[in-house]
Amino acid sequence: MSLRVVECVPNFSEGRDMAKIKVITDAIEGVAGVRLLDVDPGADTNRTVVTFVGDPDSVVEAAFRAVETASRILDMTTHHGAHPRMGATDVCPFVPVEGVTLADCAELARRLGKRVGEELEIPVYLYEQAASRPERQNLAVVRKGEYEGLEEKLKDPQWAPDFGPARFNAKAGALITGAREFLIAYNVTLNSRDKAHATDIAFELREKGRVARRGQTSAFYSSGKELRYAEGCFPCGNCGFDAPTFEALEAHCRQEHGYELRHLLELNDVDPDRAVGQKAYKAGIFTHCKAIGWYVDTYKRAQLSINLTNYKVTAPHTVLEAARRMAADRGLVVTGSEIVGLVPFQAIYQAGQFYLRQQGKSPFIPVPDVLENAVFSMGLADVAPFETEKKVLGLPKVAEKGLMTMVCADFVDEVSRDTPAPGGGSIAALAGALGGALASMVANLTQGKAKSQEVENKLLASAELAQRAKDQLMLAVDEDTNAFNAYMDARRLPQGTPAEKAAREAAMQQGLKTAVDVPWSTAAACFEVMKAADLAMRNGNPASITDAMQGLQMGFAGVRGGIWNVVINLKDITDEVYNEKMKADCAKLLADARALLDEGTAFGDQALERMLARKQ
Ligand SMILES: [Zn+2]
Repeated sequence: MSLRVVECVPNFSEGRDMAKIKVITDAIEGVAGVRLLDVDPGADTNRTVVTFVGDPDSVVEAAFRAVETASRILDMTTHHGAHPRMGATDVCPFVPVEGVTLADCAELARRLGKRVGEELEIPVYLYEQAASRPERQNLAVVRKGEYEGLEEKLKDPQWAPDFGPARFNAKAGALITGAREFLIAYNVTLNSRDKAHATDIAFELREKGRVARRGQTSAFYSSGKELRYAEGCFPCGNCGFDAPTFEALEAHCRQEHGYELRHLLELNDVDPDRAVGQKAYKAGIFTHCKAIGWYVDTYKRAQLSINLTNYKVTAPHTVLEAARRMAADRGLVVTGSEIVGLVPFQAIYQAGQFYLRQQGKSPFIPVPDVLENAVFSMGLADVAPFETEKKVLGLPKVAEKGLMTMVCADFVDEVSRDTPAPGGGSIAALAGALGGALASMVANLTQGKAKSQEVENKLLASAELAQRAKDQLMLAVDEDTNAFNAYMDARRLPQGTPAEKAAREAAMQQGLKTAVDVPWSTAAACFEVMKAADLAMRNGNPASITDAMQGLQMGFAGVRGGIWNVVINLKDITDEVYNEKMKADCAKLLADARALLDEGTAFGDQALERMLARKQ
C-alpha cells in the first residue's frame, strides 16, 4: 500500500491560445488520481509546459488523453515559435517522485509511446533513460531537423520511429517521450548584494567548473590570473601541475582529480583536439549540478542559482554544505536557501536525516519532525515561507479525517457505541501503533548515550523499525473500518437476476479478502513493533525498561487481534486454497509472536526483580 507518485511534464506546441491550452489541461484533469501542478505558457516560444503528478497508471492515461487532444486541436502545419519542436505534443518525460524508479518511468514512456503509435498513428521516439539506442538519448539529437525536417527524417531507416508508423503525420508531427530524474531548482542565499560573490562560489560547485587561474591575491578565486593551454605546457586547473602534452594532462586529471578533461572542455564549448591557445579549465565539485550567481532585487541579496539534475547523486544539502564552507572561506555567510517550485519528499527527508545525524540525534523520529529539521537546517524559510504541504511532492499519507484525527476521549466513546465498526481490527492497529511509539521513545531516549557503537546501532535499528511500523499502523486504524464498510456495501448490491447475484457474490468475496488483507498486514506490522520493542528493552536505558515492555505487550495485542480478525473473515471465503494459506501463515506468525513475547517478558521481569533486589 506504499505511495507511488510519478511526475509528467509534457510540452505542447501552443503558447498563445489559452482556450486551446485549457482544452488540453481539462483532458489531463479529467483523469481521477491526477493533480495538475503547473501550466506555463510562453508566447514567444509558442509553447506550453504542463506539469502534473499522480499514480503511474493515472499519469499514463492522462498523458495519452493530452497527446490525443493536442493532436486533434493543434495543427503543426501552421506552427511557429522560438523553441525547437517536432510535434503538437513535443516532449513528454516521466519523472520518478516517490516509490518508483527511473526504469519504471522508462516503462511508462514505452506504454505511452506504444498506445500513441498504434491508436493515433503518430510516430514516437524514445529519449533519455527510455532511449532504444545510445544515439537517441540526447533530446537535441532526436529533435534535430525539427518538424520541418521530419518528413525526410522518417525516410531514413536510422531514424525509424520506436512506435507508430514511419509515415509523416503533418498535423501532429512526432512525439518524443522518455524518462529522466527530477530536476530540483535550488537557490542558496548570501549575506551580500554582490552578484560576483555568488558567482565565485557557484563556479566552484558546478560540474562545468570555470576558467582556471593561479596567483590569487584574495580568498576569491577570480582574483587570480587566467591560464591558457600552450604547446608543451598544459596547466592543470585543479592543482599546480603542468603537463607536457594534452594526453598527459588528460591522464593526470583522471588519476589525480577523478574527472574526464575532454568532458569538462566539451561542457565549456572547447574542442579538446584544438586545445592549444584556449583558456584552461578547472572542474567543479559536483556532477549533475548547474549553477550561476545572480542578484535578486526582491530579497536585496545575491544568490547561487542552482539546478540539480539528479538529486540522488548530488543532493541539495550536500551542495549547501560545500557552499557554506566556501562562503566562510571568503568572509561570507549563507543566510539560507530556497526551493524554487517543488521538491520530492525523499530529497528533503534525507536532508533532515543528514542534519539530525550531524547533530548527534536519531534520524528515526516522526516524519514531520525530520522535515522540520531540514527546513531549519537548510534555512528554507529564509527569504520566503516554506509550506511543506505545498512544496513537497510525495509526502507520506497521513490520516486527514476519520478515527485517527479524533480526540482520544471521543474515539474511546465512539468505539463503545452500539455500532459494529470501529471494532477489534482498528483497536489492534491502534494498540500496535502505540507499542511502536513506545519502542521508538525508549530507543531515541537512549541513543547518543549508548555504551558502545554496537548498542547504539541496535537502538537506531529499533527506532527505524518502530517508526515505520507505527506510521503504517496509524493508517490501518481507519483502513480496517473502511475495509469492513466495503464488504457491507457489497452485501447491499442488487440480487434480482442470476447475473446480479453472481456479481454480488464476487464483490462480496473480494470485499472479504480485503477485510482479511488489512488485519493480516496489521498483525505483521505489530510483530515488527514487538521486535523493535524487544531491541529497545534489551539495549535501552534501564529506567525506561517498563515502557519498552509495555510496547512489547501492545505489539502482541495487535498481532493477536489482527489474526483473530483474519480468522473470523475466513469462514465466509469460498476460495479454499487462499484459506489454507492464510491459516498456515497466521499459525506461524502467532507462534513467532508468542515466543518473542515469552522470552521478552521473562527478560524484562528478571531485570525488574534484580532492580528490586538491589534496593533491599
Ligand atoms: Zn592537478
